[in-house]
Amino acid sequence: KRILITGGTGFIGQLLCQNLIADGHTLTVLSRQPAHNVQSLCGRVEAVNDLEKLREHEGFEAVVNLAGEGIADKRWSEARKQELRDSRIALTNQLADIIASWKSPPAVLVSGSAVGFYGDQGSNRVTEDTPPHDEFTHRMCSDWEQAALQVEPAGVRVCLSRTGVVAGPGGGFLQRMLLPFKLGLGGRLGSGEQYMPWVHRDDVVAALIWMMDNESARGAYNVVSPNPVTNRQFTKTLAGVLGRPAIFPAPAPVLKIALGEMSRLLLTGQKAVPERLQAEGFQFRFPDLSPALADAVRY
Ligand code: NDP
Repeated sequence: KRILITGGTGFIGQLLCQNLIADGHTLTVLSRQPAHNVQSLCGRVEAVNDLEKLREHEGFEAVVNLAGEGIADKRWSEARKQELRDSRIALTNQLADIIASWKSPPAVLVSGSAVGFYGDQGSNRVTEDTPPHDEFTHRMCSDWEQAALQVEPAGVRVCLSRTGVVAGPGGGFLQRMLLPFKLGLGGRLGSGEQYMPWVHRDDVVAALIWMMDNESARGAYNVVSPNPVTNRQFTKTLAGVLGRPAIFPAPAPVLKIALGEMSRLLLTGQKAVPERLQAEGFQFRFPDLSPALADAVRY
């Protein structure tokens, strides 16, 4: 197949591209720095640095849309929130407009979203039908999803990946936690009672490909492991996998001062479950946290 991918140079996107290339697909990847970022993907990959260049470039059978500024990279000033929104919603609006202009649209658009769609849910069990709480991450994810759904009238099947906290080797949030934990300086965040809907990166990539290939898949899917844990359980398991103690909790007021509104990413959560993926037959390679973390910290 010919597949267009935005975000193909990221932590999730790189592994997705590697798997799709191995399966014999031909990829076009959007990147702001194609020479630098796409080179590392090698294989049958064409790079573009501007979606507009694809208006005349028909013939994609599938599109995967993962691009977005890093949600936890900088404090959430009003300007930063706008960048987080624009890099997802404005880009997806532009992508939808281009797809709608093609004479032969792709069969499927798999587009990103996150469990932040639901807002803070305390210890509620969160399925795809759980009503969201209105907060910044909810509005951003909801607008991002709506932007993708605009291509449905053109006959494109749309799947939305409400992704959890992705654990995998060499990147993502785990990479940032690893050094303090390895030094024995790790610990729970705030009360530690908030849920962390973790998912291994291999399962995220497999779920994205499953959505692409499974013609009956459509709509929103929680892409999270079947076993969400609290931050306290996560901390204990990570310390166990590393053979280090985790006795230094980061108090909530300190995180709030250090990170501002962004501290909500760490101090609130969702007990999200992959109800639809499991009901529709998707099999997780890493359903349990301990083996998932052992694999993710192996480098
Ligand atoms: P990364 O931060 O690793 O990669 C981000 C990707 O988006 C890169 O390919 C980058 O391409 C592209 N990008 C960033 N900013 C822009 C911009 N302003 N315009 C165009 N492209 C941009 O992300 P992940 O792989 O970790 O995640 C992929 C998506 O999944 C993201 O949208 C993220 O919000 C979402 N997600 C991730 C989770 C996680 O735990 N990792 C959890 C839930 C959701 P380049 O720099 O080459 O231009």
